[in-house]
Amino acid sequence: MKVLITGGAGFIGSNFIFYMLDKHPDYEIVCLDALTYSGNLTTLFNVMKNPNFRFVKGDITDRELVDRLFREKKFDFVVNFAAESHVDRSIEDPGIFLKTNIIGTQVLMDASIKYGVKRFHQISTDEVYGDLPLDRKDLFFTEETPIHASSPYSASKASADLLVMAYYRTYKLPITISRCSNNYGPYHFPEKLIPLVITRALNDETVPVYGTGQNIRDWLYVTDHCTAVDLILHKGKEGEVYNIGGHNEKSNLEVVKTILKELGKPESLITFVKDRAGHDLRYAIDPSKITRELGWEPKIGFDEGIKKTIKWYLENRSWWENIISGDYKDYYRKMYESR
Ligand code: NAD
Repeated sequence: MKVLITGGAGFIGSNFIFYMLDKHPDYEIVCLDALTYSGNLTTLFNVMKNPNFRFVKGDITDRELVDRLFREKKFDFVVNFAAESHVDRSIEDPGIFLKTNIIGTQVLMDASIKYGVKRFHQISTDEVYGDLPLDRKDLFFTEETPIHASSPYSASKASADLLVMAYYRTYKLPITISRCSNNYGPYHFPEKLIPLVITRALNDETVPVYGTGQNIRDWLYVTDHCTAVDLILHKGKEGEVYNIGGHNEKSNLEVVKTILKELGKPESLITFVKDRAGHDLRYAIDPSKITRELGWEPKIGFDEGIKKTIKWYLENRSWWENIISGDYKDYYRKMYESR
């Protein structure tokens, strides 16, 4: 099997590449990634010499390059992780989110039709469903929950999902979509909550928390996301959406306090900052469809996952220190220190 994985130099895509090379040693894996600010080639260092792996630097919106790659490789599967992925950045500058997340998906699907791809899998997010109230713990997102995106990021992902479903209906492109809750684990870019807290706390720096920190996210360790996508790719039904989540709902403040405790750092590092515009209150996934139909179960609970993640950041300082020493510093000042 020949598999194209886009966005594989980013957080989840890279973990998926490691997982696939290990799980399917006879597969040929190609990673297409534009290496934007969140893409990092050093992440893929350990697999670069694997004869079954090839890295191609390029933009998924570049029609000519995508066409050439598909013509040359004749992919069986395409898994589209490539995206602009950070809500805060989408609030500052939505344009690139529409280009990459919507047009990029279209370009990949056009090539998938032209070259007869057997499965196009779109990596979506639970954020397309909008949010749930904090005081209704009985409510969960199911695959039937209406799309109700709140941020330019989630609206761009929701738009892509609609386009993917339209390509299934209109052109019969064999697609599947997965909508996963918040991931955490190794190689997570330090602008996102969990790595942000770990890396700042390790340097004894203040840790910014939006509003009162009561917003709830549903956390899944990244390898559990990978096993779910692998299952959907091989056993999922064409034209279907699958929610992925592990019922690990935590308030942001709870997550921050847990990490500080694990690291032996004081809660006085916490600094409450002006809330994010349009901040979603609560995400909570009902994963019963993928469990019932494909037998998927998450393996790593939050207590174990957060310890593994902290250990990884402690053992891989050079990976994140390189990132936070560059342009990232200016971005951080603009976003959190001026609030
Ligand atoms: P990330 O920002 O860490 O990685 C994105 C990758 O895409 C980077 O390597 C970047 O260089 C690449 N990229 C960006 N624009 C590109 C373009 N135009 N052409 C080619 N490559 C491009 O993101 P992530 O957290 O790994 O998220 C991956 C996917 O998973 C996204 O589609 C995101 O919407 C989805 N998702 C993420 C989460 C989460 O918690 N992180 C949860 C659910 C779904």
